[in-house]
Amino acid sequence: MNFEAVIGLEVHAQLLTKSKIFCGCSTTFGQRPNSAACPVCLGLPGALPVLNREAVNMAVKMILAVDGSVGMTSVFARKNYFYPDLPKGYQISQFDRPIGIGGRIAFEDNGVRKQIRLTRIHLEEDAGKSLHPEGHSEDFTRIDVNRCGVPLMEIVSEPEIRSPREAYLYLHALKQIVEHLGICDGNMEEGSLRCDANVSIRPVGETKLGTKTEVKNLNSIRGVEKALRYEIDRQIAIVSSGDRVEQQTLLYSDADGRCYPMRSKEESHDYRYLPDPDLVPLQLTPNWIATVQRELPELPLNRQDRYVHDLALPRYDAEVLTSSPGLALYFEETLAACPDAKLVANWIMTEVLARVKGNAAGIAGFAVEPARLGRLLEMIRSKAITGKIGKELFECMLADARPVEAIVAEKGLAPIADSSDLGGLIDKVIADHPKEVARYRAGQTKLLAFFVGQVMRATGGRADPAVTNELLRSKLAQSE
Ligand SMILES: [Zn+2]
Repeated sequence: MNFEAVIGLEVHAQLLTKSKIFCGCSTTFGQRPNSAACPVCLGLPGALPVLNREAVNMAVKMILAVDGSVGMTSVFARKNYFYPDLPKGYQISQFDRPIGIGGRIAFEDNGVRKQIRLTRIHLEEDAGKSLHPEGHSEDFTRIDVNRCGVPLMEIVSEPEIRSPREAYLYLHALKQIVEHLGICDGNMEEGSLRCDANVSIRPVGETKLGTKTEVKNLNSIRGVEKALRYEIDRQIAIVSSGDRVEQQTLLYSDADGRCYPMRSKEESHDYRYLPDPDLVPLQLTPNWIATVQRELPELPLNRQDRYVHDLALPRYDAEVLTSSPGLALYFEETLAACPDAKLVANWIMTEVLARVKGNAAGIAGFAVEPARLGRLLEMIRSKAITGKIGKELFECMLADARPVEAIVAEKGLAPIADSSDLGGLIDKVIADHPKEVARYRAGQTKLLAFFVGQVMRATGGRADPAVTNELLRSKLAQSE
């Protein structure tokens, strides 16, 4: 029997606000434990939460970017549960009236445009962190409440994802959108982007949903893909042997690529949601939404389409160049100085990315600024220098901040295109290789490349290829 997977993803994105969602405490990552907490974070008696306007703006940005509808009135509720990392005993979240309804995330899968619909987008606060010190994991738990109250945006998809690969592409697209909007840093390792997956299987053609499990603890996009592949195979094996899948929550272990049961699934009504009496319903105005709409940047997929249609770049290049907003900006600024899009794309995807990789400063702090790279590429495009010299120059520019023209002049790297300069050199190359000359004249004209190579070697790559070719051809054609 053939099975298909039914996958829905819940993604928590930590919003890049400076302060928490209901108080003024700092959200900076890696602060001393319990140093960024106040009575509001802890829910102490008398403490009053005040909603952070910036968090609302960011959520609205996301909703508009994915074509969802903004709920003009949304309500915060207390989601009650007892857990050590949540000292006040409830988490403030949105329940039946979220800030965003519907929308979709689109991506490109092998040239096919697909889109996954969204159920909702809502705002909530994060919980704290339990720490189990090495060697004492049985003895005690340490609690760090710095993360309590950090703003989260939860993006819930419809169960329309059909394969681990689609889940990968969906998450990749979502990550790119929040990064382009500047509302989340997209860092899964640091927990800024967290994903839980609901997954079930059913025979192909069946419309009823099978029993689902929930996989948690997914901390990379590849991890999500691997965990889903494991879990789908596990469910298929159970059903194929005549057993039934048990509804449960699983933890994915990256170490061995397997999922382990965590606890039996808590139903959402177990949480006892109650409207938060300290927070009035959030009312948005059309004016507010229009202001956010005006600030929306171009989205990654639209940008890709523009690169493919207007700049005639291959889809692959467009995908690489829009993989981060910083890289797209670098590309466009370089393009402003050199209009050959394919030349610029090639250089950025090879020379630039190879050097930016693993460099903490990233593309924004790269030593060769886009305007300087653009000038260099423009010299190659207009044949003022050869591509080979271009690469040498690029090396120099990594450590030398001067304009490329200054470096060319100082190092004497300008190309030799003067036929009188090249002529003597070519005569010498011809004189030094009588055997090859004879073979060439006997009809082996492919040897021209050999002679060009000799001239290039003698000039350190500075000989203008077109002039060299022409001179060699004419001199080799002359009989002795
Ligand atoms: Zn606080």
